[in-house]
Amino acid sequence: MKKAVVAGAGGFIGHHLVSFLKGKQYWVRGVDIKEPEYEKSQSDEFLLLDLRYWENCLRATREVDEVYQLAADMGGIGYISTNHAEIAKNNILINTHMLEASYQNGVKRYFFSSSACIYPTYKQRSADVVPLKEEDAIPAEPEEGYGWEKLFAEKLCQYYQEDKRLETRVARFHNVYGPLGTYEGGREKAPAAICRKVALAEDAAEIEVWGDGRQTRSFLYIEDCVEGIYLIAQSDYSKPLNLGSEELVTIDQLVEMVAKVAGKKVRIKHDLSKPQGVRGRNSDNTKLYSLLGWKPKYSLLEGLQRTYPWIADRLAQKKKSAPGAE
Ligand code: NAD
Repeated sequence: MKKAVVAGAGGFIGHHLVSFLKGKQYWVRGVDIKEPEYEKSQSDEFLLLDLRYWENCLRATREVDEVYQLAADMGGIGYISTNHAEIAKNNILINTHMLEASYQNGVKRYFFSSSACIYPTYKQRSADVVPLKEEDAIPAEPEEGYGWEKLFAEKLCQYYQEDKRLETRVARFHNVYGPLGTYEGGREKAPAAICRKVALAEDAAEIEVWGDGRQTRSFLYIEDCVEGIYLIAQSDYSKPLNLGSEELVTIDQLVEMVAKVAGKKVRIKHDLSKPQGVRGRNSDNTKLYSLLGWKPKYSLLEGLQRTYPWIADRLAQKKKSAPGAE
C-alpha cells in the first residue's frame, strides 16, 4: 500500500484529493492548520500542524512515499491583491520547509500546486487572450505577492530535482471550482461567489459583479483537477504543466450560465471600483495532452450544474437554522 501526505487537506482541493487517493487504495495522512469545513476527511490520519514551521514539516512528511503540497495562504482576487507581504512570507516558509523536509525524509515523489498567477501580466492584457503555454512564464512578470512566490517555489522544485534528485512534479492550476469550496467570507473565487449571489437573489433581482464583466477566464472542475494532479504526479515529466480548462468565458457569460442553472433571471450591476485581476486568461493544454493523452472532461455548464445546487443548499440550510427562522 502506497503512503501519501496531502498538505492543505483541510482546504478545497486538498480535501477532494484525499478522497481521490483513498479511492486508489492509498494510506493517506492529511495535514492542515484546520479541518475541512463541510465534511469529515477520509484520511487515515489528520494532523493539525502549521507548515510554516520546520519541525512541523519534518513531522508531516515522515514515512510516506509521496507528498502532495497544496497548503497555501490564498484566496480570491480581493484577498490576494491586498495581502502581498503576508501571503508571500507564509507561502515561501511552507514551500521551502516542505521541500527540504521531504528530501531529508527520503520521499520518493513531491507534487507542488502552482498557479496560472505565475504567468506574466503583459500576456494577459486583452480579454481575447492567446491561451498561455508553459514557456510563456519567462520573462517573468507574475501576479504580485502570490504569483512571485509560486514562481520561485516552482524554481525550488526544479533545483531539488536537479541537485538533490528529489522527484518533483508541478502543475499550474487555472481557477478550480466545485462543491465543498469556500463560497463566502472573502476568500471565495468568482464561480462560487457568483453562485452565492445568484442563490441569494430574488428572481429578476440585481447582482453585483466585480469589474466590467468582460474580463475572461477558464474554469476547471474539481474532479478533473484531482485526476489531473494524480496523473501529473505519477508521470515522468518534471517541468511545470498547465492544469486548466480551455473553455474561455467572460465573467458576464459565467453569470448567465449560473442563472440558467438556477432557473432565475438576474440583472448585472458592474462595480468598477473592485479588483478584477488580469484582463484575460486561458490555459493551453497542448503539452498536457501530448504528454499524458489526457484532457479535462467536464464542460463549464456541467461543472456548474454540480456546484450551484451544493452552494444553494448550504445557504438554504443556513437560513433555516438562523435565529428567528421559522
Ligand atoms: P484552500 O485555501 O481551500 O486550501 C489551502 C489550505 O492550506 C487551507 O486549508 C489552509 O488552511 C491551508 N494552509 C494555509 N496556511 C497553512 C499553514 N501555515 N500550515 C498548514 N496549512 C495551511 O485553497 P485551494 O483552492 O484548495 O488551493 C490548494 C492549492 O492550489 C494552493 O496551493 C493554491 O495556491 C493552489 N491553487 C488553487 C487554485 C484554485 O483555483 N483553487 C488556483 C491556482 C492554484
